[in-house]
Amino acid sequence: MAHASWAYTISAFLENTILMVKRGVELANLPPEFFEMMARPQRILIVNIPVKMDNGRYEVFEGYRVQHNGALGPYKGGIRFHPEVTLADDIALATLMTLKNSLAGLPYGGAKGAVRVDPKRLSPRELEELSRGYARAIAPLIGETVDIPAPDVGTNAQIMAWMVDEYSKLRGYNVPAVFTSKPPQLWGNPVREYATGFGVAVAAREMARRLWGGIEGRTVAVQGAGNTGAWAAYWLEKMGAKVVAISDSKGSVVNKSGIPAEDIIKIYRAKAQTRDRSVLELDGEKSKDPSLPLYMDVDIVVPAAIENVIRLDNAKLVKAKLVVEGANGPTTPEAEKALYERGTLVVPDILANAGGVIMSYLEWVENLQWFIWDEEETRKRLESIMANNVARVYNRWQSEKGWTMRDAAIVTALERIYNAMKLRGWI
Ligand code: GLU
Repeated sequence: MAHASWAYTISAFLENTILMVKRGVELANLPPEFFEMMARPQRILIVNIPVKMDNGRYEVFEGYRVQHNGALGPYKGGIRFHPEVTLADDIALATLMTLKNSLAGLPYGGAKGAVRVDPKRLSPRELEELSRGYARAIAPLIGETVDIPAPDVGTNAQIMAWMVDEYSKLRGYNVPAVFTSKPPQLWGNPVREYATGFGVAVAAREMARRLWGGIEGRTVAVQGAGNTGAWAAYWLEKMGAKVVAISDSKGSVVNKSGIPAEDIIKIYRAKAQTRDRSVLELDGEKSKDPSLPLYMDVDIVVPAAIENVIRLDNAKLVKAKLVVEGANGPTTPEAEKALYERGTLVVPDILANAGGVIMSYLEWVENLQWFIWDEEETRKRLESIMANNVARVYNRWQSEKGWTMRDAAIVTALERIYNAMKLRGWI
């Protein structure tokens, strides 16, 4: 065991995350004490939130806020509402945020919150009560210069609106900057809706430019048609690529002459209203297998659905030369090794899907100053931060033999955290 605690049981996800940090610390030649500090969160809050359900009975939901490392600035990271989330997984996710924020050059440490709940099971009123209850419960630990939450899996802009309202009531005045990814009508920014997918597309374009001289005419297959997948497809088409396959949990659609991005977005929006809609309504050949895009004979594959979809057993079926990770953890470490041996590059999640938190940072800067940037100005800033990050990781990867791009990303992130800790006298 890489690390032990009396307070919680380590999950496979946390164990893998800690091992990844360990490998990074060793590759970077940083001291083992630094690893000991990075293998543990600085602070954990456990909360229990009673909610009066529509049937008149109370249910109590368990939640967490994990502040992993604050060397670079206020803690930052989303809040996950998921029926199977555990404290150990939340710690892993908070650790990944520390790395992602550092790599993106943001002035933030890493955090993540979670509530063990299936949000789809709650009525809108119950969901609002739970969101407000969670905001009250973590209020002593957050603040616009202390810890700034945002959405993650199972939460959205409406939930941020309820939370920022609840927190503002406690303080007695409006505190817009304490949560990010709010609705554009309430201190949010219109870019946020598509920021993660846009960032994935920028990462793909920047890599395509280096590998092939450009993204124009390159073929792409996307697994997942949620917020990340649908918007990545949309922006990849705008940048000149051709999206020939996309999938969701119901299956895949393949169309060699290209699937119009506008149609993908239409389905994505319709799905937010009614669950039975699917990309299977789009023109093309259909299959019930949601993983089909991973195996397509295309230039770029974007896994943008869930974790662990490219494993040792199916890695050999991947034909693309470039995999850009939209989801968190879609490629297992063994699969990544196999892909590199076959000449396929993997752009790691903490680099490729950082568009969301980079946009959060821009929104936070706007809110702290009560200033409003227009959509185009915001998108340009997001684009240049993403492109610079890709350049930094790519150059580092090129200068080290035998490293993956993930190694280069993690080492770059760890070095920045270590330098901050050193300068502050923490180590
Ligand atoms: N949940 C997103 C992530 O994992 C965004 C976090 C944020 O904006 O703070 O990167």
